[in-house]
Amino acid sequence: MRELTVVWMTCVVDGHEHAVTEDRAAAGVELGLGTYDAACRRTVAPQAMTAAPGPRCPACWRQLGAWLATPRRTGRWRRWLRRAVGGRR
Ligand SMILES: [Zn+2]
Repeated sequence: MRELTVVWMTCVVDGHEHAVTEDRAAAGVELGLGTYDAACRRTVAPQAMTAAPGPRCPACWRQLGAWLATPRRTGRWRRWLRRAVGGRR
């Protein structure tokens, strides 16, 4: 089973904690919009880190399980991030 690193972020809009992969979290920081694409495809506007987390999003849990059960993806986000930061391909 491959490793998948996620950050859980509670969204101020729906109050749920969503899974954001490290690639998508880095892409969100790079874009500087203050929003992040969650595993469930929701755009998350994170609440303050000092606030208590909300309940975890069931759609994110399902998506994470599906990703871990399938062969390694093509790494579209990883390739995009490498290009965005000017790293090696
Ligand atoms: Zn979610």
